[in-house]
Amino acid sequence: MFASVIVDIPSKSVNQVFDYRVPSGMEGLIQVGHRVLVPFGPRTIQGYVMSLDETTDFDPARIKEIARTLDIEPVLTEEMITIAMYLADYYVDQYISVIETILPAALKANYKKVLRLADSYTQEAENALAQVSNGSEVEIKRLDPDALKTLSPYLKSGDIREETVITQHTKRKMALAVHSLKQSDVDLSRAKKQQELYDVIDASSEPVFVRDLVNDGFSNALINTLHKKGLIAKVEAEMERDPYSDRVFTSDPPKVLNSEQQHAYDRITSSMDAQEAKTFLLHGITGSGKTEVYLQVIQKVLDEGKTAIMLVPEIALTPQMVNRFKRRFGDDVAVLHSGLSHGEKYDEWRKIKEGRARVSVGARSSIFAPFQNVGAIIVDEEHETTYKQGDRPMYHATEVAKFRSRYHDCPLILGTATPSLETFARSERGVYERLELTMRAGTKVLPEISIVDMSEEHRTGNTSIISGTLEAGIRQRIEKGEQTVLLLNRRGYSNFQICQSCGYVPMCPNCDISLTYHKSNRSLMCHYCGYESAVHRTCDNCQSDEVTFRGTGTEKVEEILRDMFDTEVVRMDNDTTRRKGMHEKLLDHFEQAEVPILLGTQMIAKGLDYPKVTLVGVLNADTMLNLPDFRANEKTYQLLTQVSGRAGRHELSGEVIFQTYNPTHYAIQLAMENDYRSFYEKEMAFRRLARYSPYYFHVLFTVSSEDIRKCLKATTHIHDTLVQEVSDQSIIVGPSPSPLERINRQYRFQIMLKYKREPELLKMLNNLDEHYHEAYRTEGISLRIDVDPLVIM
Ligand code: ADP
Ligand code: ZN
Ligand code: ZN
Repeated sequence: MFASVIVDIPSKSVNQVFDYRVPSGMEGLIQVGHRVLVPFGPRTIQGYVMSLDETTDFDPARIKEIARTLDIEPVLTEEMITIAMYLADYYVDQYISVIETILPAALKANYKKVLRLADSYTQEAENALAQVSNGSEVEIKRLDPDALKTLSPYLKSGDIREETVITQHTKRKMALAVHSLKQSDVDLSRAKKQQELYDVIDASSEPVFVRDLVNDGFSNALINTLHKKGLIAKVEAEMERDPYSDRVFTSDPPKVLNSEQQHAYDRITSSMDAQEAKTFLLHGITGSGKTEVYLQVIQKVLDEGKTAIMLVPEIALTPQMVNRFKRRFGDDVAVLHSGLSHGEKYDEWRKIKEGRARVSVGARSSIFAPFQNVGAIIVDEEHETTYKQGDRPMYHATEVAKFRSRYHDCPLILGTATPSLETFARSERGVYERLELTMRAGTKVLPEISIVDMSEEHRTGNTSIISGTLEAGIRQRIEKGEQTVLLLNRRGYSNFQICQSCGYVPMCPNCDISLTYHKSNRSLMCHYCGYESAVHRTCDNCQSDEVTFRGTGTEKVEEILRDMFDTEVVRMDNDTTRRKGMHEKLLDHFEQAEVPILLGTQMIAKGLDYPKVTLVGVLNADTMLNLPDFRANEKTYQLLTQVSGRAGRHELSGEVIFQTYNPTHYAIQLAMENDYRSFYEKEMAFRRLARYSPYYFHVLFTVSSEDIRKCLKATTHIHDTLVQEVSDQSIIVGPSPSPLERINRQYRFQIMLKYKREPELLKMLNNLDEHYHEAYRTEGISLRIDVDPLVIM
């Protein structure tokens, strides 16, 4: 028996399967999807079995044997193996990097270099090694230079050799537990507390964790007494790391659906019954009850003994969504997101793999949840760019979702109030079935939206970042004990520092961007590479002391609001939410202490649902409009609509104010009128003229290098290759400097390919990728190929 194995080396030259012999003792044991250790050159490395076969195309005499298997059950299903192949091809990437994205990080190999005694060695060598280690091997990393020097003669003589060993991260978390020994003549009638404890332990069919018993008020001494009496035994039992274990969720019964919700539910479930791999666009305004539809569809999936995957843009930003799922489905829900530790993620993953959880709620990578028998897949807020991974492999979760929907013949539901243009266009063409929810659920209505022209505001003498209208609105809410949410898409205190005498603005030495002033730690920071420097009181250029700060960030607005309204403000941005769990803490505090104002960057635009929020203000609706990206209008429309949706979701009605310098811009006007259809038509006209997606597909090539000449040379080469290889219906834009010309000392140039049909494209992209893989090693030039890019920076 031979196994085709993908090995754990992220290099283009080994992006293929290698054949290994399955040792006779392992036949039947090794299955497709197993992790195995295999010899590769002088080393032993981890690999994944992709297929098993009786024959091989290679010379059987020269084929090496698999050293050992790491799993009892395969970690990759056949489905995941096919997905890995498909994604690696589509996004021009390597199999191994996709496989490692699919699996929880805990299953990845961890290599360490050690020195250990060779098969034959001298006493001297053994003594020398014993000096620096307490066993027969030592990790090289842990040796100081002197120790290494002492050992080096033995390395040369061959008494000691260097080896790479693999360790796994997947230590299961164990804890002390006890179980009853089921003695027949237990009499504890004279020791009431002991009897009580014994009853608890005896009643449980599984070992009970000592920690839990202690939490319930039984002392360690008491537990030991039962142990000494021979009534119970102690064992190490495996513990699940459940991040939600200490939380109680009150149950939440299904609501009676309104007629639009019912229609959507019926369409989706009838496609489920027919076992169709159909994609639905659930286009519902904010608060129209999309989530309620998801919940009821999932209920039906579970009733039929199947499983469901629910994707959300980012869990940390939507704690309320997790709560709703936990309240409806309890322990059936596994939660997967980036905030979990490796161990926690691995535990949730195993819960799914072993069938102990049947619904997953999670961010992008949870689309790889190892479910069998999937009955429905839901992508909430489908327009969000976080669904596309920014690093390799640059996959889009919705692409994977479509694949899985076809694999399982189940419906895929894309939900949003503001569909991406691509998705809406497909629903127009009938590729997706569109389901509309046009009313807010229950008796609620959409908030009133108005626009304040900030240039007008300045002309009439108010230069503050808070307009008169907004100020009055906030005051009113404070008086009535209601709450306001304010969006400002700019963190830090001031945008930048400027010298009034020579105009000098301190820039990041590594990137092509001005530094942002952060008052709390009196520093200038680069938001791209993290560079930080102290603020200087005098200009670095002319030594003048007339340096000031311009532009307003969240940190400064927080101060302005405190002064203006003399009230508490909760601020949410990357600075205040860096620590784990801070999102939720700040939001809980905002809700429970009824803090009058929540100020935040984009991260507050999604998912929040608080009954007392009746006013939403957007301090600068234009920030997104000015991005150098053809999707700037679309992003603006989406953000404004999302954040508006936070107001008046319950009994109290809501109001929204957009402050802008472009009051007549259609993205802002139509967001105010809540007219998605008109926005879609206007934007499509622009995309057609400018020949952008969805009329064309895109591939973005970004070349970077510390040496600007190398960059130019490479972009010219790529440009020439494209000109030669693509049809004349395709358009090549560039080369031009990227909107961010330099990040982290790397110069960046880009080329955009726009095409409708290029059958040979994939092959060409792979060739380019391969070529530049080599160039990266030899010349420090890197090429990033982004297929279907969402961000053009
Ligand atoms: P969306 O996901 O579209 O923003 P939600 O599902 O969060 O909307 O619904 C908004 C609010 O309306 C929630 O508080 C939800 O509990 C409530 N709701 C949803 N559907 C119904 C219904 N059929 N009857 C009454 N209330 C509902
Ligand atoms: Zn100066
Ligand atoms: Zn920088």
